[in-house]
Amino acid sequence: MPASIRDVMPAFELFQPASVADTLGLLERHGSDAWIMAGGLDTFDWLKDRIQKPKVVIDLSNVSELRGIKERDGGIEIGALTTLTTITRDPLVTGKYRMLAEAAGLVASPQIRNQGTLGGNLAQDARCWYYRAGWPCYRAGGNICYADTPTSLNREHAIFEADRCVAVNPSDTAPTLIALDAQFVIMREGREQVVSAQDFFVGPGIDITRLTMLQPGDLLTAIRIPGTWAGKELFFEKVRDRQVWDFALVNIAAAIDGSASTITRTRMVVNGVAARPHRLEAVEAFLAGKSRTPEVAEQAADLAVAGAEPLRHNAYKVPLVRNLVKRAIRGGAEWTS
Ligand SMILES: Cc1cc2nc3c(=O)[nH]c(=O)nc-3n(C[C@H](O)[C@H](O)[C@H](O)COP(=O)(O)OP(=O)(O)OC[C@H]3O[C@@H](n4cnc5c(N)ncnc54)[C@H](O)[C@@H]3O)c2cc1C
Ligand code: SF4
Repeated sequence: MPASIRDVMPAFELFQPASVADTLGLLERHGSDAWIMAGGLDTFDWLKDRIQKPKVVIDLSNVSELRGIKERDGGIEIGALTTLTTITRDPLVTGKYRMLAEAAGLVASPQIRNQGTLGGNLAQDARCWYYRAGWPCYRAGGNICYADTPTSLNREHAIFEADRCVAVNPSDTAPTLIALDAQFVIMREGREQVVSAQDFFVGPGIDITRLTMLQPGDLLTAIRIPGTWAGKELFFEKVRDRQVWDFALVNIAAAIDGSASTITRTRMVVNGVAARPHRLEAVEAFLAGKSRTPEVAEQAADLAVAGAEPLRHNAYKVPLVRNLVKRAIRGGAEWTS
C-alpha cells in the first residue's frame, strides 16, 4: 500500500452557498467532482486521510433553509442540516417521536452531536477499517473483501445480507426513521424526489460502492415523519463497547401499537448487522395480534435471526439481536428477557 501523509488535506475548491438554489446550481455545474459537506465529521476523516480527493467541496453550513424542525401534515419535517443535538432537545421530536431523540442522543459524544447533522448521519459511509484505511476492496472498486478472509478482523461486521462486502450501516438514527415510516426528500436534477426511509438505504447487491441511493449531484433536503406512529410505544436500544463515543455493535428501533398485554402492529428494525438497516418483517408479521408473553418473544427472537450468517468473530451478534427483540416486545412487562 502506498504511504500517505495523514492530516494534510488535498487541495480542493471550496464553495459555501447560502441557499438551496445556489447549492443545486453548484452541484449541477460540478457533477461528480463535487463533495457535499454538512457537519464535516465523516468528510474530514476521508479528506485528512487523503483517501478521498474531491476537486470541489460544497459546504452546506450557511444554507439555513436546510435547518430546523416544523410540523407538517400531522407529522414533522426535519431539515437535513439540523444537528443531532437539536433533535435530542426539540419538543416536537421528544413529544411525539422520543425514540429518534434517544437515538440521536446516543451518537458518539456531545461535540460530535453539536456538529453532526441528521442528513450526514444518514448518509455517512461504512466504518469498515480496511476500507477507511484505503485498502482496494470491493467497496472501493477492487475485487476482494479484506474483512472476510480466515484471518480478518470482523467482530463489528455483518451477519445478514452479505454480498461480497460485509460492512454494516453505522447510523443510530437510520433504524428509527425506518421504524417510523419516514420519507426522505431528495433534490435530483432539479426535481424533488420523495423516497421511503427503507428504500433510501441500499445493500451491496444494488450498489456495492455506496450505502444509500444518493448519487453524485443529489441533495438530501429533509426528512418527513408521518403522524402514524406519533405517541405510540417507541423503543430504541443501542449496544456498544463503551458507553460514549462509540458506534453501535447492534441497535434496535421498534414502533409498537397495542396495549401492555397485546401487540396489534409493529415495525422493527436492527442496525449494525448488514450494509443497510435490517427490517424484521417476519417478526412484524408474526407479532400482529399476539400477546406479550415470554414464549411469543422467544419465537419472535428465533424469527429475527433466521438466515443469519456470522463471520469468524461476530457470532455474538446473533444472541444480541435475539435479546434486543425480546426486550422490545417485553416493553414495560415484568418478565425477564
Ligand atoms: C468519532 C466518531 C464517532 C461516531 N459515532 C457515531 C455513533 O455512535 N453513531 C452514529 O450514528 N454515528 C456516529 N458517528 C458518525 C457521525 O454521527 C457522522 O459522521 C456524522 O453524523 C456525519 O454527519 P456530518 O453532518 O458531519 O456529515 P458529513 O461528514 O459532512 O457528511 C457525511 C456524508 O454525507 C454526505 N451528506 C451530508 N449531508 C448531505 C446532504 N444533505 N445531501 C447529500 N449528501 C449529504 C456527505 O457528502 C458525506 O458523504 C461518529 C463519527 C465520529 C467521527
Ligand atoms: S467489508 Fe466491505 S468495506 Fe470492508 S473490506 Fe470488505 S468489501 Fe471492503
